Amino acid sequence: MIEVKNVTKKYGNVLALDNISFNIKEGEIIGLLGPNGAGKSTTMNIITGYIEQTSGEVTVAGYNMLKKAKKAKREIGYMPEGVPLYTDLTVKEFVTYMAELKKVDKKTRKEQVKKVIKETGLEDVQKKLIRNLSRGYKQRVSMAGALVGDPQILILDEPTVGLDPKQVTEIRALIKKFGEKHTVILSSHILSEVSQICNKVIIINKGKIVAIDTPENLEAKVSGSNSIYVTVEDKENKMKGIKSKIKGLKSIKLIKKNEDKTKEYMLEAEKDVDLRKTVFEKFAKEGITIFEMKKADATLEDAFMKIIEKGGKK
Ligand code: ADP
Ligand code: MG
Repeated sequence: MIEVKNVTKKYGNVLALDNISFNIKEGEIIGLLGPNGAGKSTTMNIITGYIEQTSGEVTVAGYNMLKKAKKAKREIGYMPEGVPLYTDLTVKEFVTYMAELKKVDKKTRKEQVKKVIKETGLEDVQKKLIRNLSRGYKQRVSMAGALVGDPQILILDEPTVGLDPKQVTEIRALIKKFGEKHTVILSSHILSEVSQICNKVIIINKGKIVAIDTPENLEAKVSGSNSIYVTVEDKENKMKGIKSKIKGLKSIKLIKKNEDKTKEYMLEAEKDVDLRKTVFEKFAKEGITIFEMKKADATLEDAFMKIIEKGGKK
């Protein structure tokens, strides 16, 4: 359905995308996941034909985006980052305008607008000016604009940013529902969001793809590691030499320095080694005081950080 092949994008000297490639099949719900500045919006803007890549190729529903832009764009509904424009229009006027822009057949236009307004739960506010709506409703209006014309592909850039928890839940449910009938790409910097909605995750960092996998597999990839977090007071600076004194300890990493001069470290153990008992005993012997010790859960968050770190070292 969507093919991105060796795409690079430079903004002047800024290399925003560095030779990325991936394929998206019909009916998939894909999460484009990465921290701010990773290149998510740039990727989406290129897939939608909103900006041009510096090099590489994008094919949408069989059409080359640069050569057959009109046809390719017809298959895409795009919800860009941020709130919708045209805030002086009513909801219905905006959706109708989007339908005109997308060249929805005049005969079916009214019907289409009505259907989309209903699907996005905007019936009660359709006569209101967009600027008078809450953030959550504005987001729905944006979504309605993307959906009108019944495109095969929906592309949603950070669809839940700035929403309150209730609105987030509602928008996620909406996306899931549309995912039953459409191919969806959504971007997010929130892992739990992507794992809830998507069946495949593309992790992107600094313009490079660092992983493509299912949320389950990404979690499994790190679940073999068992780390613990310890917060310590180390007056005599003994943490430096501790690694060689503890069997099965693979690495030590300083996570943060607290205001009360305690420090938090992450200790990574060899597979199947439980460090807690040894750490407790050895630290006491060395005069390192433990304030807190906890086992790290292998969450998607950990997977994300690990994968990003690895990708960065390449
Ligand atoms: P994300 O959406 O993941 O936060 P973006 O795609 O917006 O990331 O940005 C990727 C990189 O490209 C960032 O370093 C950003 O500063 C840069 N960038 C994005 N748009 C422009 C632009 N119009 N001009 C110059 N640099 C840009
Ligand atoms: Mg962005």
